Amino acid sequence: ERDWRIFREDYNIAIKGGRIPNPLRSFVESDIKKDILDVIAKVGYTEPTPIQRQAIPIGLQNRDIIGVAETGSGKTLAFLIPLLVWIQSLPKLARLEDADQGPYALVMAPTRELANQIEEESNKFGVPLGIRTCAVIGGLSREDQGMKLRMGCEIVIATPGRLVDVLENRYLVLNQCTYVVFDEADKMIDMGFEPDVQKILSFMPVSNEKPDTDDAEDEDILKKNFLSKHKYRQTVMFTATMPSAVERMARKYLRRPAYVYIGAIG
Ligand code: ADP
Ligand code: MG
Repeated sequence: ERDWRIFREDYNIAIKGGRIPNPLRSFVESDIKKDILDVIAKVGYTEPTPIQRQAIPIGLQNRDIIGVAETGSGKTLAFLIPLLVWIQSLPKLARLEDADQGPYALVMAPTRELANQIEEESNKFGVPLGIRTCAVIGGLSREDQGMKLRMGCEIVIATPGRLVDVLENRYLVLNQCTYVVFDEADKMIDMGFEPDVQKILSFMPVSNEKPDTDDAEDEDILKKNFLSKHKYRQTVMFTATMPSAVERMARKYLRRPAYVYIGAIG
């Protein structure tokens, strides 16, 4: 059944940040590969929500994003689709050889419940594609958590506190993690997770230092570098509200982000 909240037509859109690709008109008319489109269809999503329309094409260009949209607007898929496309684009062999180098993508969420919800959505799409998701949240003993992680996964969904613990005790490495998501960034800041976030990023060898350019052509160079060397971190941040603390966090961790705001009217 159609959820009026996520498909409502009466919303404000504000977008800024350099050259912005056209929004998705539909899933089918995008350049998302058929295997992923098939999964989207099987899950039963027929059209993208407003935040998905705007944010997915930007994510597919490997650009940093700040996405602001109310709860229930479909933000999870807005970051999961580009993330799955990115992982699917990596050579299978490299994926096998680098299995013990840790996940390719890390999603941070402020609470266990939220992390579980993202894990569920990630599995819905990832499992049929052969992409494994592992949640690093409280509740399991360190040893059990470590055992789960040793089985390998491409995506880790984590709460910051628990992830710091697991990283410091070397149950997980992030040697090839180039895609980082902060979900519910406003809540993460409210809950005091910024120092943990800082620590977590220090475990990643890749920086978000990209060639400093605003030149249209160089967007392509940016993408090529990213794809060939895994050299840069793509960082995306989704939030329901944009207080100044979130803006500060974005300035600190994101590089030349595209800003996408979907606001309800009334
Ligand atoms: P948010 O993170 O913005 O609060 P979610 O990503 O949790 O929103 O999505 C809210 C609900 O909408 C979920 O139940 C999800 O399965 C559903 N949903 C997301 N995208 C679509 C879509 N394109 N079509 C139909 N349902 C969707
Ligand atoms: Mg959400």
